[in-house]
Amino acid sequence: MSPTALQASRHVRVGVVGSGAAGIATCKGFLDAFKAAGYKNRGDNNDNGTNTFDIDVFEKYGTVGGVWDYNERINSATTSHPTTTKTLPMYKSLRTNLPREVMSFPSYPWNRLPSAEGRSYITHSEVGDYLKSYSQHMGLNKYIRLNCEVDNIKFDMSSSPTKVVVETTSPNSSSPTSAVYDHVVICNGHYEAPSVPPSLQCLSSTYVSMHSIEYDSGDDHKWRGKTVLCIGGRASGTDIAREISMAAKKVYVSERGAAVEGWPGKEKVEVVGGTVGMDSTSTQGILLEDGRVLNDVDMVIFCTGYDYSFKFLSPEVGVKFEKGERRVGPLYKQIWHPEHPNLSFVGLPHSVVPFPLFEVQGRTIAEIALKGWGEVGKEERAREAQSDYEGMGPSGRRVEDTHYLGDLQWQYTREIGVMGGFWGEEEDRRNKVNEEIYKRAGMERKKGKIGGDDGYRRMEFWRDWEKHEWGVEKKGKKRVIS
Ligand SMILES: Cc1cc2nc3c(=O)[nH]c(=O)nc-3n(C[C@H](O)[C@H](O)[C@H](O)COP(=O)(O)OP(=O)(O)OC[C@H]3O[C@@H](n4cnc5c(N)ncnc54)[C@H](O)[C@@H]3O)c2cc1C
Repeated sequence: MSPTALQASRHVRVGVVGSGAAGIATCKGFLDAFKAAGYKNRGDNNDNGTNTFDIDVFEKYGTVGGVWDYNERINSATTSHPTTTKTLPMYKSLRTNLPREVMSFPSYPWNRLPSAEGRSYITHSEVGDYLKSYSQHMGLNKYIRLNCEVDNIKFDMSSSPTKVVVETTSPNSSSPTSAVYDHVVICNGHYEAPSVPPSLQCLSSTYVSMHSIEYDSGDDHKWRGKTVLCIGGRASGTDIAREISMAAKKVYVSERGAAVEGWPGKEKVEVVGGTVGMDSTSTQGILLEDGRVLNDVDMVIFCTGYDYSFKFLSPEVGVKFEKGERRVGPLYKQIWHPEHPNLSFVGLPHSVVPFPLFEVQGRTIAEIALKGWGEVGKEERAREAQSDYEGMGPSGRRVEDTHYLGDLQWQYTREIGVMGGFWGEEEDRRNKVNEEIYKRAGMERKKGKIGGDDGYRRMEFWRDWEKHEWGVEKKGKKRVIS
């Protein structure tokens, strides 16, 4: 090899925080981009003239899958700390609220897994198995460093371009380890920091209370004969209310602006309007937004969501995340640090179909990391990031909706994919099928009452990934919808 070839060879080091769905999709995105650009894994490379890479995916738990890794995480938590409160958002009986036909990573359609034949709405263990299978099938496991927690991330300003320093701890090493990366992607999820609005925190001093993160099962004797108020009637609130109503005397679900559905005799779940706080005129009552006071509540469950949390980000990184605001920024396209785009985030948008979006975000980050920003300069990124932050994100609704996408997700996914340079007709057709199935499933879900029967989960979808067709299946008969 000539000295010129030696000088020209490039080594790129990538760090990824978290091995949930976002972390493994990002790792795959980098592997695909490196492969397409002719890079080799440094460990496998014998030719000194070739561009090489290293990827380290840091995972603080002992297995991959993130929130879907319920069985392993609950077992290890209860074995090592039998008396502590549950800190995993998944619970025993959880089934998905999206059909697997839309949840799938496009590069690994679910129906390739024999164990996933049958139902569309599946259990957390089926999703956990799918993610482990994806990680294995895509050859990601060798890059994942389990039981390795990221404690600190900061910039190394002395290098040009600026690099990212990651400090980790692991039970296998006696002292923290520090390493320098060209690119770091943060995929730490957003279901670890329970959030309760300040105005409702006073309820905890009067009532037996918990956050939905602590909830595990409706069978628990603690609900028997009790009147329970679930504050929050979205996905978790409505499922938890239905489950505990089997044992409880009565369950109120409080949802801001909810159309009150009444309590027709034998149904134990009553939907009420938003909770204001303690009633100042009574000692035991809980005041609702319509002026009604609930005097018979024994227990309160806060199904009030989660904050984004990045305890490991050094303040000088310059990304803001204020407690209670439920957002992080300013970021360019909800992904990149505007000034130092070699620090990025996958998985911030919510009210989306997560897995397909993660694959697109991860691959685009990788492609831009290798090919550069072209005509998009630092000033443009900073201006747009600031405007997104001040304008409260693409929906422009409220500060806490800065990362809300909802119906905007299809256009957003396309835009990010186009930026990555890999988006074509095939991706457009898949995106369109995702949108159609998502809307069909949502329509079915909205027919149900909050906390009532979850009949929508009985609907079976089918999808042909090659022909881009989908439909519903009844008694073994497939109906084509599109
Ligand atoms: C109760 C519940 C039900 C849901 N239902 C559905 C559904 O039906 N369908 C659907 O598509 N989505 C659903 N979701 C959304 C779900 O969050 C996403 O599907 C997706 O799994 C999120 O992946 P993630 O990788 O972003 O986050 P996570 O799965 O949370 O993974 C983050 C990983 O980062 C690790 N980590 C965090 N901090 C550090 C650190 N400092 N150092 C090292 N590692 C770290 C964590 O241990 C974790 O493994 C649900 C979520 C919850 C909580």
